[in-house]
Amino acid sequence: MLAMPRRILIVEDERDISRMLDYNLRKEGYSTLLAYDGPAAVELASKERPDLVLLDVMLPELDGTEVLRRLRFDRRTARLPVIMLTARSEETDKIVGLELGADDYVTKPFAVKELLARVKAVLRRSSEALAAEERFKDGALEIDFGRVLVTLKGRPVDLTAKEFALLRALVDAGGRVLSREALLEKAWGMGAALELETRTVDVHVGTLRRKLKGEGARIITVKNFGYRFE
Ligand code: CA
Repeated sequence: MLAMPRRILIVEDERDISRMLDYNLRKEGYSTLLAYDGPAAVELASKERPDLVLLDVMLPELDGTEVLRRLRFDRRTARLPVIMLTARSEETDKIVGLELGADDYVTKPFAVKELLARVKAVLRRSSEALAAEERFKDGALEIDFGRVLVTLKGRPVDLTAKEFALLRALVDAGGRVLSREALLEKAWGMGAALELETRTVDVHVGTLRRKLKGEGARIITVKNFGYRFE
C-alpha cells in the first residue's frame, strides 16, 4: 500500500539545527514544514495539520511550552503528537512539557539517530490511536464512540452526555494527563473553565467511576492537577 509521506513541523529558531533536522527528516522520507518562532508554529500547526511537531522550548516571542499549551487547547491540534526539544536539562521543563501533553522529550544535544527513532515511535503510537478512535475495547470495557454506547462485559452502562464526553476526552488523551480545566473545556465546551468550578469535574468523575465499576479505577487522579486514563 502506498502511503502519503508523513508531514513533520519543525519549530526551531536556531537555523543550523533546523536545517539539520530538515535534511535528516527528508532523507528518511518525511515531508517537512518549518517555523522559526512560536506564533508561526501555532498558525502552521492549526492550518496545515502536520502528523507530528518537533517543538523547541527556547523560542522567540512564545516559548515552546506556551506553544504546546495553545496547541492542546485548540480542538484542531489538541491531539497532534508533539516531541519537545530542549537544551535545558532542568527537570521543570520536562514536567511542564509532559503535564501539557508532550508525547516525548529529547534533550539537546541529541543524536540524530535517536531523534529519528523517537519520531518513528511517536508516529506509530499516534496512528494506532487513530485506528482505535471510533471504538475502544479493553478488558471488560467497550466504548463505541460513533453510537455513543458504553458497555461493561457486554452490558450497556447508562451514562449522561457529560459523563460520556469526559470518558471520551480521557480515553482520547491516550494516557496523557488532562487538567481539570482542560476536561471542562472538552466536555462542557469552550469557555467552560471560566464559568464553572473545577470541582464540577471531580463530581462527574466520581459518578463516572462508580458507573464503570471495576473499570472506574482506570481513571487515575493526578494530585493537584487532573486525571488520566490508564
Ligand atoms: Ca531555540
